[in-house]
Order: sequence, then C-alpha cells, then structure tokens
Amino acid sequence: MTVSTEVDAVVEEIRQAQKLLLTTHENPDGDALGSLLGMHWILQQLGKDSLMYMSPDEFPLPYEYRFFTFDDLVGAPPDDVNDRVVIFLDCGNIDRMPVDFLQRDGIHILNVDHHHDNTRFGTVNLVWPEASCTAEIVFGLAKELGVEITPKIAHALYVGLVTDTGKFMYENTTPAAHRMAADLIDAGVDAHGVYRRLFEDLPFRRLQLLSRALEKLARYDDGAVTLAALTRADFEETGALETDSEGIVDHLRSVEHTKVAVLVRELLADDRRGLSKVSLRATDGSVDVSVIARELGGGGHRQAAGATTELSLDQLVELIRAKVAAQR
Ligand code: 5GP
Ligand code: MN
Repeated sequence: MTVSTEVDAVVEEIRQAQKLLLTTHENPDGDALGSLLGMHWILQQLGKDSLMYMSPDEFPLPYEYRFFTFDDLVGAPPDDVNDRVVIFLDCGNIDRMPVDFLQRDGIHILNVDHHHDNTRFGTVNLVWPEASCTAEIVFGLAKELGVEITPKIAHALYVGLVTDTGKFMYENTTPAAHRMAADLIDAGVDAHGVYRRLFEDLPFRRLQLLSRALEKLARYDDGAVTLAALTRADFEETGALETDSEGIVDHLRSVEHTKVAVLVRELLADDRRGLSKVSLRATDGSVDVSVIARELGGGGHRQAAGATTELSLDQLVELIRAKVAAQR
C-alpha cells in the first residue's frame, strides 16, 4: 500500500467512526502529546465522541509540557472501549503502550506514526517515515477531513513539529516541515511564546542535573561515542525528576567528533530498580542508532532512539562502542 492509500483508508475509518479513543506511547514527548491533543480537537470539531488515554503514571508530565491541559482524558479503560476505534499516535510498537486493555484481540486500531521501524500492529496502518513528526501526519489528515485549523489545534501540532525536528535542525527538517510551520503560524501560533515555554523558563534543578551530566562526560574511540551516566544519587541530590533529564543528550551531541551521544540514567521507581534508560542520538547520519536501541530491546529513529536495559554501565558502554564501531 502507498502512503496515499493508507491516508485514504484512515480518513474513511475516521469518517465512519462515531466513538474513538486516542493514545500514544509511554513517557510521551512533545510529538506524542501534540499529536494526541491535536487529533482529539480535530475529532471534536467533526462532532465525534473522542477520549484520550494515558496512564496516570505519566503525570506530572515533563515540565516543558505543563501548559497542556486535558479535558477528556481517561486513566483506565472506558466501559465502552470495545465500541471505540482506537487511534495510536507516534507509537512505533504496541509494547510502548504497555496496558493490557489496548492489546486485547478484537480492538480496532488505527496506527498513525512516522517511525521507520513501526511494527504495523494496527488493524489499519498509516506509517509515513518521511513525515518529520506524527503531528505532520495529523495535520495532513485534518486537511483531508476538511477541518479548520484553530489556534489550539495549530499550537498542539506546532509543539510536535518543533520538538521532533529539534527546532528545525535535525535531518527530518524538510520543506514540508517548514511549510507546515508557516501554515500553523498563520493559524495563530505564537512561535516565540512556544519556544519560551518549551526551552526556557525551566526549573533550576534542570540545570543542576545537566551540570552533573556534563561533569561526568566520558568520550570513547577518539570521541566517536560521547556518554554521560546519571545515577539515582544525581537525581536525589539535585531534587530533579526523571523528566528533568529530557534534552540533556542534545548537549552531549554538540561535542566535536561525536558520532553517537548517549545519556544513561538509572530509573527511580522502586519497581524499576536495576534498570537504566538509554537515550541515543546520532550526529551526522553515519550511524543508525535505532539498530543499537533494538539490540537493547528498544527502538526509534535512525537519529534518535532509546531503550530500557538491565545491563550495567560497563556492559552498556562496551556494547555501544562495539555497535558504533561495527557501523563506521
Ligand atoms: P528518548 O531518548 O528521547 O527517550 O527517545 C528518543 C526516541 O527513541 C523516541 O522518540 C522513540 O522513537 C525512541 N524510543 C525511546 N525509548 C524507546 C523504547 O523503550 N522503545 C522503543 N521502541 N523506542 C524508544
Ligand atoms: Mn514523533
């Protein structure tokens, strides 16, 4: 199937559906949240009965997304879940939304995503790896559905666009991404205001956590791998939350010679002791970090990927160095 037939199929599904339930991946980022809310308001404009599902564990959201408010959010399966068409947004793999009720047989799923390693777990799949972000796909669906891009829809989709393109700097920054930005600014987005809310005006503990990471910076293989590891103590002593580590890996990628930047952080929840979250970023396209993430049981994009692992830091460093060397 081509992408345009996939778009047609999803548009038809949405037109036919009356009741829907929207969801995304765990630890939602800007594209996940922006696509979720944007799609919800699009469906509301079409007169649909739409609910959003996220686990209560996701709250509070990362500080930069504090301005998003959710009116029709459920934290448990609604009674009529079997009557609802479920739309997964920005979720490459159904195991990234680890709740049983969404993984049962018989759930009718529209899988709308831009991850090239999407497992096509939907009943209907709209997987478009050339899209800069899932919000771009949602924007396209809105146009197909004849929906007016209101300022709040525009704002939600713009957050997805600006975060997933690294402020229009990553390789996925296409002409279409810039055209979409222009359209959304025309529709009422305050671009500088979004920038301030997302990337500035952050709690001081964030910078303290970043400074810990920078102090611990390690470089391997002539700088090809740049890595920092944050421990539970780093979080406890700075008062930082897990979500305060968002964005740190982007500082690591800025060091010369880096092919792959890595942030490893110990997970804080009691039931996740012994596990670490690994964030991988490629700099110049010579290494596909999603390959390394998949090796660790995770996944993602060529340029940005992640996983959760039981490996010790030493084991991880060894594995990452070997996998980077193998691709160079
Ligand atoms: P981050 O490092 O910011 O958590 O994630 C970067 C990207 O890697 C995400 O946008 C997502 O595509 C992917 N990713 C992160 N963690 C996981 C994971 O545990 N499993 C999978 N499949 N993908 C992940
Ligand atoms: Mn995305």
